[in-house]
Amino acid sequence: MRKSLIAGNWKMHKTINEAVQLVTAIKRELADYKGADIVVCPVYTALASTFDVLMDTDIVLGAQNLFWETQGAFTGEISPVMIKDAGCEYVIIGHSERRKYFNETEETVNKRLKAALAVGLIPIVCVGETLEERESDKTESVVKSQLEGGFKGLQSIDVLDVVIAYEPVWAIGTGKTATPEQAQNVHNFIRQWVKQNFCEDTADKMRIIYGGSVKPDNAKDLMSQDDIDGALVGGAALDVGSFCSIVKNCTISL
Ligand code: PEP
Repeated sequence: MRKSLIAGNWKMHKTINEAVQLVTAIKRELADYKGADIVVCPVYTALASTFDVLMDTDIVLGAQNLFWETQGAFTGEISPVMIKDAGCEYVIIGHSERRKYFNETEETVNKRLKAALAVGLIPIVCVGETLEERESDKTESVVKSQLEGGFKGLQSIDVLDVVIAYEPVWAIGTGKTATPEQAQNVHNFIRQWVKQNFCEDTADKMRIIYGGSVKPDNAKDLMSQDDIDGALVGGAALDVGSFCSIVKNCTISL
């Protein structure tokens, strides 16, 4: 059975103090919660302080991006080793906001994915179609080419721990959510793709999570779908009550 994963993407929100306050409150609510793997992804400047708060809990830290080189003259970038050094276990790769605003391509997703795996970070690779692509019936072909490009050159053994986040662009930050059926269809498509391109075992074990306006009131229905193994939560992750309620609503108490 795949253990659920709920990851909070804080995007470009929260100063260090604000991040510490937020994560302290999340820790109070969820420190003993064992029903899901819980990840919080603050901005780079707040990683170390957030890590200090989480040190004695099972809640872990993720970064929102990384660069593929280890070190060097790359002003403004941060390397996989540095992300690990700050206490991260996870890293988000290829978020649609990075594709849209920072020219992220399949090729750069692939480089970041390989670099993350090389240092033992667990990548959360985001894929998803725009509204125009969905309306012109291109969802599967878009997701397929994002997967083909992003995972190019990798073997089954490399990708076992990778998490794929299906995030329809039209649902991110818009308040519009994919219906559980729409999401399940794409998740199943992704799992079949993993099966065909890697192996059945990898497809069975890989966690495919949904992102796009997940809220406490829609989380349960989405998570009840066979191929939805958790959520990447943006806006609602900035509110302690909403985030903790999503975690508790869509996972089992152990
Ligand atoms: C996201 O940032 O990945 C996301 C899904 O955002 P939101 O939950 O706000 O739609």
